[in-house]
Amino acid sequence: MFSDFPLEARVENTNLCNASCVICPHGRMTRPKGVMAVDQFKTIVDECGFRTVWSMHLYQLTTL
Ligand code: SF4
Repeated sequence: MFSDFPLEARVENTNLCNASCVICPHGRMTRPKGVMAVDQFKTIVDECGFRTVWSMHLYQLTTL
């Protein structure tokens, strides 16, 4: 039986970065840059914890 909720969550809690890896388009990113509000992050963690999520990755989309 399949879950109606993801088993894994990837959360971009910030899109800030002070590195400049040559393979990364981060420097050309046009999206607004910032940090997720702590309350919003807690809401995501709580919902994932109460549901079927067994793995959460904090990461940054490298989309422009
Ligand atoms: S987002 Fe990741 S890959 Fe891109 S510059 Fe920063 S550390 Fe490097």
